[in-house]
Amino acid sequence: MNFGIAVHGGAGTVAQAELTAHREQIYRDALADALRRGHGILSSGGTALDAVAAAVRSLEDCPLFNAGRGSVFNADGQHEMDAAVMEGHTLRAGAVAGVSNVKNPVDLARRVMDGSGHVLISGMGAFEFAHREKVLLEDDEYFFDQHRFEQWQEVAGTQVVKLDHSGGGRGKFGTVGAVALDQQGHLAAATSTGGMTNKRWQRIGDSPIIGAGTYANDSTCAVSCTGNGESFIRAVAAHDVSALMEYKGLALAEAVREVVHRKLPLLDGEGGLIAIDRNGHIVLDFNCEGMYRGHSGADGAVVTAIFR
Ligand code: ASP
Repeated sequence: MNFGIAVHGGAGTVAQAELTAHREQIYRDALADALRRGHGILSSGGTALDAVAAAVRSLEDCPLFNAGRGSVFNADGQHEMDAAVMEGHTLRAGAVAGVSNVKNPVDLARRVMDGSGHVLISGMGAFEFAHREKVLLEDDEYFFDQHRFEQWQEVAGTQVVKLDHSGGGRGKFGTVGAVALDQQGHLAAATSTGGMTNKRWQRIGDSPIIGAGTYANDSTCAVSCTGNGESFIRAVAAHDVSALMEYKGLALAEAVREVVHRKLPLLDGEGGLIAIDRNGHIVLDFNCEGMYRGHSGADGAVVTAIFR
């Protein structure tokens, strides 16, 4: 039976010249580790949902990426994280927005799906729910990272809101996400992010918005996006890929191309997405300099890349 998984660790202006071979390897190792975790679940007959959650959890625990532990600072010097999961055969979904001190927001999103009766919860309410569900919490120190702090200091006190990966390759990159097809033929997607550096007013990006940054539907595909969230929300990017397949009969690669290279640029949407269809075809595409990404199919070979 065919199965597969893909992950991303953010897309944007990744300046190739500034990323040393050594650092590039560190990122690629982290992506490969996430892929292996997900792949292990799929190869032993586990669900796509468990696989994407495990892959995203591993990237949330890695301080290199803008999710979980490595989340960027908001305008108040805090970390507010967003995450979502979606299951393709039931169209069930769960998401959290603007949560702090939750070690693995993707796990909380899963609990929202499984046990809250809601799809998207936010802020203090989500924190209360996290307590009730006894998910792992961490103090502020766990989320402190010197490089992220300096990134924030460059724009703190201004109106500038930055994609964590805009402005050079000297550090940390990316929102994280995963999509998978399991041996039962089911699809799932998950996305997790600290959002944008110096964000204010409890700004929420596309990642936890079902249909914008995250979507899965067994009749078409599973999608996880990364880039400037406002544009992805306006483009309803993840669902648009699915809709182009469902209503227009496009193949996955054509649908992704339409959204990433035609629709998003019209809305200043810089970034990319990863997607897998029900036959296990995987497409990883972006309209910017680079996207941290990787995939692994039934043969178990792990492929990672950053630039074109
Ligand atoms: N899409 C995320 C957001 O807007 C950011 C990113 O992908 O890096 O919150």
